Amino acid sequence: MNASTPIILAVDDKVENLDILTSLLEDYDVRDVTDAAGAWQILDHTPVDLILLDIMMPDIDGFELCRQLQDDERTRTIPIIFISAMSDEATISRAFEVGGKDYVTKPFRPLELLARVRTHLELKFLMARLHNLAYFDSLTGIANRRRFFDLATALFAAPGDLQAVMLDIDHFKQVNDRHGHAVGDQVLRLVADTIGDRLPPEAVFGRLGGEEFAILVPSADPDTVLAAMDGIRQAVADLIIPLEEGNLSCTISCGLASRTANTGNIDALLHDADQALYQAKGSGRNRVIFRHIQK
Ligand code: GH3
Ligand code: MG
Ligand code: MG
Repeated sequence: MNASTPIILAVDDKVENLDILTSLLEDYDVRDVTDAAGAWQILDHTPVDLILLDIMMPDIDGFELCRQLQDDERTRTIPIIFISAMSDEATISRAFEVGGKDYVTKPFRPLELLARVRTHLELKFLMARLHNLAYFDSLTGIANRRRFFDLATALFAAPGDLQAVMLDIDHFKQVNDRHGHAVGDQVLRLVADTIGDRLPPEAVFGRLGGEEFAILVPSADPDTVLAAMDGIRQAVADLIIPLEEGNLSCTISCGLASRTANTGNIDALLHDADQALYQAKGSGRNRVIFRHIQK
């Protein structure tokens, strides 16, 4: 067993059932508990990959625990296989209704259960991979355009201060032209890391495309964000990328805009920030411009 061994949580009020499961699933990291409270104790600090769940248990039964797991964002995507002695159609269909992904009756056929476990683990890992591909930029690892707008739309819907920053690497085409695309990629990664490391945890940061990034900072006033962005601008300007042909550095330009009572939607806010970015480019680059909008 190593760090990548899938973790399976088995929940059953009968210890002898748990013992059978544990020995059958010896290739996996099995955590066994006899009730819902024990399950949550494990789930609170362990990245569980699959749950095997009994139905008839005192206190909280399997259906209720399944519902709780579906309601919690942290556990919603963990596949659940019900394992129960009940084999009537109504119970089985209810198990799927409350969010179960599969149903195996006791006494189970060991090889069949193993095959189902393998199938659901494989599906879980494929879903996680798809999620990463769909929502994260593969070059820099930060939110891609789709995820940025999902998070941005949610932030915009909440009341309070909201600052938007559009950010673009200066003369980036020259980096590619002079040093090649691979160095360009390295610069993109380094700039994204430098920015990401310096943002407050509540900020949303994404790569909108090419060498253009966007940041949203909730619950902060423009002066605070302006100062933070100027620090980031300086940190990027201070980067030194050693190449055979000599040291390379780069700069960024940033445009900042605040949401006002008249900012209709997230696109309008980012458009305002983009106008400020345009001014930053036009007035010499390597600077942060705050666009005061009197509305
Ligand atoms: P400005 O200061 O006005 O922003 O000039 P610029 O050269 O940075 O802007 P321009 O839009 O002319 O060029 C952007 C360049 O970014 C062109 C494109 O080849 C490069 N680029 C976009 N995406 C990637 C990428 O993923 N990797 C690399 N290496 N280059 C990229
Ligand atoms: Mg039971
Ligand atoms: Mg550029």
